[in-house]
Amino acid sequence: MSREVRRAHKKFKFQLGETWWGYLLAALYCQSCTEEDDDCATCEGEHSVQPIVEPPTLSHDHVFTYGEEEYGWQMWQTVSEGGPISIVCDSPEELAHWLEDNNASSFGYDTSTYEQWLKMIKGPGWSISGVYTPEKGIQSGVNAIEDLAEVVSAEEMIHDVLEANKIDKEREIL
Ligand SMILES: [Zn+2]
Repeated sequence: MSREVRRAHKKFKFQLGETWWGYLLAALYCQSCTEEDDDCATCEGEHSVQPIVEPPTLSHDHVFTYGEEEYGWQMWQTVSEGGPISIVCDSPEELAHWLEDNNASSFGYDTSTYEQWLKMIKGPGWSISGVYTPEKGIQSGVNAIEDLAEVVSAEEMIHDVLEANKIDKEREIL
């Protein structure tokens, strides 16, 4: 995965470009099994589990409990464990402008235009890192969305990108 729009709490602040600390916590010993137990359903015999603290982003549960007003729009990279690459904006349009104005990376050193970002944000809300086509070479997944008519899900996007470009090879590159 590469870029993903998240509905982050408007008060959420974290160093841009850094991996979210909640994804980098030390492993814990599994408390469901013993050292001898290799058939543990919790840790699958690893004897350790990975704790994760999710950032304050809007989940389906939150929508019903709190509504959407307190949550904005933020771009995340998910190439590493994941971290924010933009501030939290009040609307998809504001986020697309911020990303263009700050030359945010859509793929390596590549960036995207306002229109390209907005299409990704309001479309699938997600894109793979980069795609390769004989016609255009390697380009960011964000820019590749332009070639698609209408996208409703990440899975469909990958399928459509591959179909639209007759790609036989999808590359995931930092
Ligand atoms: Zn276990």
